Amino acid sequence: GSIEPRKGLQVNKDMELEMADLMVDTAVEWCERFESWGFRNFKVSLKSSDPLTTIYTNRRFARLTDVPLHMGVTEAGTLEASTVKSCVGLGTLLSEGIGDTIRISITGNPVDEVRIGLDLLASLRLRKKNVDIVSCPSCGRDEVDGGVEVLARAVEEAMKGYKGNITVSVLGCIVNGPGEAGQADFGIVGAKDAGYLYKGEKLLCRVPNDKLVAALMKEIALEEARRKADKSVAALS
Ligand code: SF4
Repeated sequence: GSIEPRKGLQVNKDMELEMADLMVDTAVEWCERFESWGFRNFKVSLKSSDPLTTIYTNRRFARLTDVPLHMGVTEAGTLEASTVKSCVGLGTLLSEGIGDTIRISITGNPVDEVRIGLDLLASLRLRKKNVDIVSCPSCGRDEVDGGVEVLARAVEEAMKGYKGNITVSVLGCIVNGPGEAGQADFGIVGAKDAGYLYKGEKLLCRVPNDKLVAALMKEIALEEARRKADKSVAALS
C-alpha cells in the first residue's frame, strides 16, 4: 500500500527522514488494523530505492513490532548498481538479524536476482554456498596469461551445475598459493609455463596453464568417485 497522506507534509528531499518515519508509522498502523481484524499470517515490506532509507525504516519497524519483514532495495538499477545497493542495504540488516525474506531488484535478467540474493545470504553464512571460489585480486606478480581473472572465470564456468560442497582457491602466483590452497578442498596456482594443482595442502602436480582447469575438474571428479566408493563400502560393512 501507499503511505497515507498527512496534513502539512510536503514530499521533498529535506523531508526524507520524516517520510521514512511516516512509512514505518503507516506500516505499523496497518499491522494493528490487520491484527484487529483477526489476521495473523502476514508480512510487511518497506520498500525504498535508497539503501540508507531501507536500513533506517526496517530497523525502526523491527524495533516496534515482530511482524516478519520482506526486504528489498526497490528499483535499484541494473546489475552492478543493484548489487551494490542491495548488498549494502540488505546485508547490513541481515547481519543484525533483521529480515525474514529478501528480493534483489535488478533491471535485467531475473536469474541474476536469484544468483546475487543467494550469494548475499552465503556471504553472511545464512545459507550454505555449495561452490565457494576463493580467488586473489591479482597484482604485479600475477603469472597467469591474461591475468588470474581468466583462470577464476574459467573455474566458475567449469563448476556451474556442480552439486557437491566444495571450496576451490585460484591464485595468480606461488606467493600465497600453497597457503590458500591449504584452506580449500582444491587449489590451482598460476605460474610461468606450468601452474600448480593442490588438493588441500598437498601439491598434486604441475600442469601447463591452459590445462590447469581441466586437470582440476578431473581431480574433483576422481575425489567424488572415491567418496562414493567409500560410502558404498561403508553401507555394505
Ligand atoms: S596470489 Fe600472487 S598474484 Fe595473487 S594477489 Fe597475491 S601476490 Fe598477487
